[in-house]
Amino acid sequence: MGWNRKVLRVNLTAGTCTEEALNMQWADEYLGSRGLATKYLVSEIDPRVDPLSPDNKMIMATGPLTGTMASTGGRYTVVTKGPLTGAIACSNSGGFFGAEMKFAGWDMVIFEGKSAKPVWLYIENDKAELRDASGLWGKSCWETEEKIKEQLQDPLVRISSIGVSGENQVLYSCIVNDLHRAAGRSGVGAVMGSKNLKAVAIRGTKGVSGIKDFGAFLKATNDAKKVLADNAVTGQGLPKYGTQVLMNVINEIGALPTRNHRDVQFEDASKISAEAMHEKRASDGKTHLVTNAACFGCTIACGRISEIDKTHFTVKNSPKYWGASGGLEYEAAWALGAANGVGDLEALQYANLICNEQGMDQISFGDTVGAVMELYDLGILTA
Ligand code: SF4
Repeated sequence: MGWNRKVLRVNLTAGTCTEEALNMQWADEYLGSRGLATKYLVSEIDPRVDPLSPDNKMIMATGPLTGTMASTGGRYTVVTKGPLTGAIACSNSGGFFGAEMKFAGWDMVIFEGKSAKPVWLYIENDKAELRDASGLWGKSCWETEEKIKEQLQDPLVRISSIGVSGENQVLYSCIVNDLHRAAGRSGVGAVMGSKNLKAVAIRGTKGVSGIKDFGAFLKATNDAKKVLADNAVTGQGLPKYGTQVLMNVINEIGALPTRNHRDVQFEDASKISAEAMHEKRASDGKTHLVTNAACFGCTIACGRISEIDKTHFTVKNSPKYWGASGGLEYEAAWALGAANGVGDLEALQYANLICNEQGMDQISFGDTVGAVMELYDLGILTA
């Protein structure tokens, strides 16, 4: 299958980037980015390691289908010992970054050690080098992407970065790629921040190698795409409504955790649902949803691109938030909304943007705020 058979090992303490062969026995035995990267991680670290110490490692990995035309094959995975739970963290992201890693000729990048000063990694096909990130430290994920593209004079470079959240090692920081896709869960962004690694930028022009029988692969992927297209969920529900389609469904069956799990239904669920994203606003006659969007090579195209009402109190003085951006997904809409009793769709879109901008996991953030609100209600926390 589509392996490049190459791993990039980046030692941040020494400032070196070295190439090594992918362990093909492990690639066969632990199929997929998650299994393979986990095998590498547990083979290389002491399980008792402090997740935020230089002795922890962080692996960005692709799978055998990444970068191919297989639907959902554009994803990549970050595996590390996670600071939030102390267990193995495996966080997965869509967009285009994973495919670009494959196109540059790498299956996996292993980060070890800790840089003495902030750095970012630039990979251009076979070349890899660490660059000074002192001018990027303190910047958001969005500003970081913009500045790296400017510096490289390359609008097509794909970037994963941490925001201020990851720099400060907030335990549920994420790694954001392509502006609004994220390896979001388990605090992988905090590990990246602990290593003084601000961003990884990749430009690859090689395509995918290693597919033995391209004709058979083409037939298999096309057959699978037909199955997805003919299915009511992957062919209709997800492209039209995205994952947020779950909001009304889960609320109806009484399984929507509301106000820090104190209730199981939210009276304003319909106001923050996927259907509401399609409704025209009274203020400007536009729908919240601008279009759906796909990760690399995916025909499901469940991603959401939306716009906030420019007159809403959250953004009316902030033009930078007026453009189209990613969201909402079901989990973010639930955690920022129902989990806190908030039924204002614009407010959720705004909170979602801030989390993407600063590299913070919307789900853990929303749930944490919900817990704080209950603790306040109970008098355990005070103003
Ligand atoms: S478009 Fe949706 S289904 Fe396809 S890879 Fe991206 S997140 Fe997954």
